Amino acid sequence: MTEPTGQMLIAGTPVSGSGEKIRAIDPSTGSELEPPFGHGDATDVERACTAAAEAFGPYRRMPITERARFLERIADNIERVGDALVERAHAESGLPVARLTGERGRTTGQLRMFATLLRAGDHDIPRIDPALPDRTPPRPDIRQRQVPLGPVAVFGASNFPLAFSVAGGDTASALAAGCPVVVKGHDAHPGTSELVGRAIAGAVADLGLPAGTFSLLFGDGPDLGIRLVTDPRIQAVGFTGSRTGGLALVAAAQSRPRPIPVYAEMSSTNPVFLLPGALAERGSRIATGFAGSLTLGAGQFCTNPGIVVAVDGPELRSFLDTAADAVAEREAGTMLTPGIARAYAEGVSRLAEHPAVQVLAQGPETDLPVAGRPALVVTDAEAFIGDESLQQEVFGSCSVVVRCRDAAQLREVAESLEGQLTVTVHAAGDDHAEAAELLDVLELKAGRILFDGWPTGVEVGHAMVHGGPHPSTSDSRMTSVGTPAVERFQRPVAYQDVPAALLPSSLADHNPDGLLRRIDGEPGRH
Ligand code: NAP
Repeated sequence: MTEPTGQMLIAGTPVSGSGEKIRAIDPSTGSELEPPFGHGDATDVERACTAAAEAFGPYRRMPITERARFLERIADNIERVGDALVERAHAESGLPVARLTGERGRTTGQLRMFATLLRAGDHDIPRIDPALPDRTPPRPDIRQRQVPLGPVAVFGASNFPLAFSVAGGDTASALAAGCPVVVKGHDAHPGTSELVGRAIAGAVADLGLPAGTFSLLFGDGPDLGIRLVTDPRIQAVGFTGSRTGGLALVAAAQSRPRPIPVYAEMSSTNPVFLLPGALAERGSRIATGFAGSLTLGAGQFCTNPGIVVAVDGPELRSFLDTAADAVAEREAGTMLTPGIARAYAEGVSRLAEHPAVQVLAQGPETDLPVAGRPALVVTDAEAFIGDESLQQEVFGSCSVVVRCRDAAQLREVAESLEGQLTVTVHAAGDDHAEAAELLDVLELKAGRILFDGWPTGVEVGHAMVHGGPHPSTSDSRMTSVGTPAVERFQRPVAYQDVPAALLPSSLADHNPDGLLRRIDGEPGRH
């Protein structure tokens, strides 16, 4: 069955939900899509969390190779849905089919990457400090490994209906860590969510796992999400979306009698620094690349380049001319939801009406029902440093150029930045002294620093960081993309003087699985 039915999934059982129905909207036409979806209530949250708590014990104790097989089966099942999945995601998001096909590959690739990580045992590098009975004082035998936190609540993001949604990075890494997952699907793409949810529930059934390992709920407004985050069985939260939404979930999690971590990826404006040598050497090429990155996917990426910083002068003016021409020619892009398109238009108007801001270019008027016209505006460094509102994310193809008097003021702008997912530097050889000083500031501001490229496009791997200081995320120590994402959902336990017969196999003296471990700090497969 490749058509959505309008149902949630609680521990493998389709549930119709209640209340006013949620209907997805095709943003390219503005029309409502079938079927309508009911949403969950307190009873549904209770059922999903009870089932997740019951599943936790057997799921976490399952052999790691079985957990890996489960992730691979989810990937296989998602692929089995075939074109219908991409078509539904296209209808619900307006994102191009080619982009969604790539996103599906990223989603299944991510699941398989975590499976490989589990098989290698690299999600948990045990540490063993053997006893030193003759030392004064004697040292006990201490062995450390990671254990999963417990059931995790995941909030699907609107802008990646596959890769950051029901089976996206948060779900894949939580399941890899050994945590059952309850997803709150995003109501912009309920059909896509149901199809992917069925692929996960199918994998749960195929492998005979406890049914509560996975549930999918929908909510009507914030109630269900808050209920989920404050349910005592939930032990951690993964979220991608607005700053307001993320901070509301952090506050709810902190207000619990037993607070829990919320890994919220929120807002980032991803500043791009254009150093003088680079502008002189290849300003026009940088301008074209910038316009492409800014308008990609109607700017609906958390890594969209929303701020450009450079020293004023003829090279910058020439860059701005080329960039403004490119932006003025770019057609408006269909946005994900009417709400997001409205928020974008309001954000651009807020900037345009700011006394210290000048609009350089806007894309052509459009008849598209749910769309955002790209926009490029400029301000000066003093105004930017003095007014935090100029740093606020405008989610869409809008960028603020900050003109600086000199290199010292450019560094002041860098110092004034909020926490970011990314910062980019374009530099030529003779900019390297300045770039080195800038780097010293930027590494305290962002999770990823890139040179001579564009921040859109986040590679999934072992070294990637998709995270950063507040407000880009709620926990700057973590990444939501790449294998280290699994660390968010596990915690270390030290076993002191535990009898050998009672130790978990990963901590046994003879290392039966040949795991990479640290013995007395020394890494090796011993
Ligand atoms: P959102 O409004 O933050 O919603 C994301 C999810 O969080 C939804 O399931 C939503 O539930 C829930 N939520 C939001 N506020 C909540 C609250 N106070 N309490 C409990 N749950 C809450 O994000 P969106 O709908 O995707 O887009 C809205 C705006 O978010 C965009 O205009 C953009 O500014 C920003 N955004 C940023 C990124 C990024 O990566 N930086 C990505 C996507 C969106 P309900 O809808 O049921 O309330």
